[in-house]
Amino acid sequence: MGSKKVIVTENGKIPEDIAKKLKDRNINCIVISYEEMNKIIKEARKRYIKKYGVDPANPRVEVVNGVVLPKEYVKELVRHGLLKLNQSGGIRPYTITEGCGSPSNGPYAVNGEVKVHVFEAKDSKHVPTEPFESDTKNALERFENFNVNVQVMFYYGFWDASDVSDWNDAIKLLNDLAEDTSWVVDSRNDIVIGWVDYANHNGVAYPDGTWDLNNDNIPDFAPYALCAVRTSGVDWPHDSIAQHEASHLFGAGDQGTWWWEHPSCIMNYGWVYLGVDNWCDSCEACVANNINP
Ligand SMILES: [Zn+2]
Repeated sequence: MGSKKVIVTENGKIPEDIAKKLKDRNINCIVISYEEMNKIIKEARKRYIKKYGVDPANPRVEVVNGVVLPKEYVKELVRHGLLKLNQSGGIRPYTITEGCGSPSNGPYAVNGEVKVHVFEAKDSKHVPTEPFESDTKNALERFENFNVNVQVMFYYGFWDASDVSDWNDAIKLLNDLAEDTSWVVDSRNDIVIGWVDYANHNGVAYPDGTWDLNNDNIPDFAPYALCAVRTSGVDWPHDSIAQHEASHLFGAGDQGTWWWEHPSCIMNYGWVYLGVDNWCDSCEACVANNINP
């Protein structure tokens, strides 16, 4: 989308609260609809395919520990336990008790609505080389199972991650995202998802949507999650990353590395890798409690 600031909403109109936030900060930007965004992505994809001979939306190869392998082959290696999953993963900045966090401090639906602000890193080192938009939208709309309306907006040209000292450190990228995009968060139903091209983990999120952002030993409301379209180990599907990390914000904990350790569920690394889009009964109850307290 070039160097301009662009916001994408369902109907191409800017919600009043966002318009006010932009005005307060003297930010000028263009607003377009999902439909227009999809047209732009389609064109960009055509150009990419022409230039590189690879479809960025459907890459058939994956780089694992520096080696280019066919995606299907990687899947077989993982299935047989020959390739580890734990180098990928939605690990979090620190380990909390597995299971379910408390709904006291994190994000939740207000007037039956959750607002998802999706920021694409704009600097050349971090701008994603694979599309993530429709996967993110699909993933977040799965939270409508919890009787809430989910509004997804995309922000281009806003987030500059070039000042992150270890450029691929997922936690440092998450901290930078939280710093740079806090202006958009002013209600308990605002959550932020940032996408970068590459990080040392597929995703990270502040557990239970809280974090001590100003180091005063009191947890702050911190509904931020980071996703990467590529990582060092095996890559998770993009929609699975977004659903897994957003679930962390709503209190759900990690549930083991391998699929035999937990029922089919988005919170278990093995099942996430295999592309499931459901929560198990207990993780579902956890998200339900947190999103609609
Ligand atoms: Zn589960």
